[in-house]
Amino acid sequence: MTQASAFTSQSTTANDADRPLIWVNGQLVPKSQAAINVFDHGLLYGDGIFEGIRVYRGRIFKARQHLDRLYGCAEKIFLKIPYTKDEMLAIQRQCIEANELVEGYIRLVVTRGIGTLGLNPYSCPEPGVVCIADQIALYKPEMYEKGMRVVVANRPRIPVACLDPRIKSLNYLNNILAKCEAIHLTQELGITKPEDMLLEVVMLNVEGNVAEGSGDNIFMVKDGVVITPPGEAGILEGITRRFVLRELCPQLGFKAVERDFTLPELLEADEVFLTGSAAEIIAVREILQHEDNRITGTHKISDGEGEITGALRSRFREIVTSDQIPED
Ligand code: PMP
Repeated sequence: MTQASAFTSQSTTANDADRPLIWVNGQLVPKSQAAINVFDHGLLYGDGIFEGIRVYRGRIFKARQHLDRLYGCAEKIFLKIPYTKDEMLAIQRQCIEANELVEGYIRLVVTRGIGTLGLNPYSCPEPGVVCIADQIALYKPEMYEKGMRVVVANRPRIPVACLDPRIKSLNYLNNILAKCEAIHLTQELGITKPEDMLLEVVMLNVEGNVAEGSGDNIFMVKDGVVITPPGEAGILEGITRRFVLRELCPQLGFKAVERDFTLPELLEADEVFLTGSAAEIIAVREILQHEDNRITGTHKISDGEGEITGALRSRFREIVTSDQIPED
């Protein structure tokens, strides 16, 4: 190895460990030093909340709505965020700038903070605050036109009365274990082609109605109407979902409604798509059903992305690649 190449590889390694710079409790630190105390109740009990936010062209997409949701969730778990919304916005901008981020993703985390080994949240005097601004690519670009295959999870979404899914808490095991059903089934069936893998699950609520994906909201299109379950169905009320309902559908002249629907209705839909800050808008082309890792049903929805899904996605991309990124 020449001296020059030795230098290059060494600096690459150092760079990997140091970037991005991460905001942890008031300080911007290299990635390798970004750490949370083991007595933080965010780690011990999943006691905390978070946000996943997109950065387009250096601007924070729907920044206000994400902050409103974060502070709303904080209130629901009796947690007082030690910064104002404007200060939290400034922290995000500082992270974007420090990492020269143009297109990316922000993860804001507020933990209960450092406490004792008991559950009592009031033993934690000071919440922990973390802001990570980094790159993201959830699904391969071609999947947006092809549409993906998903499976209906056997595990229901946690009921509102137990832990309201409208709270974007650090406790994501309900979602993770549902997602494992898709991963295990993909392995069991020996699917290796990326476009055929089961990449998400459809989660039903305990009443048997459709709720959402493990990390995305779900929509169906029937006879030209765009339909998605209401908040009371036990879902996270996504910012992307709201953007589709309140802005994209009206702009494109599509009727949009929030109402409960059953799995048989979903399987008969003309189009199905998922929404999320990371996923944006992505079509579902096929929905599988399983029991104990054995396929019990296969339902084709569409050949690739449907017309209305495509129109919504085009309009979405038009907005997020324009020079007017909405930060409201
Ligand atoms: N549902 C769940 C369970 C999620 O984790 C997410 C992603 N945060 C969503 C829906 C989509 O929400 P948003 O559009 O705000 O990213």
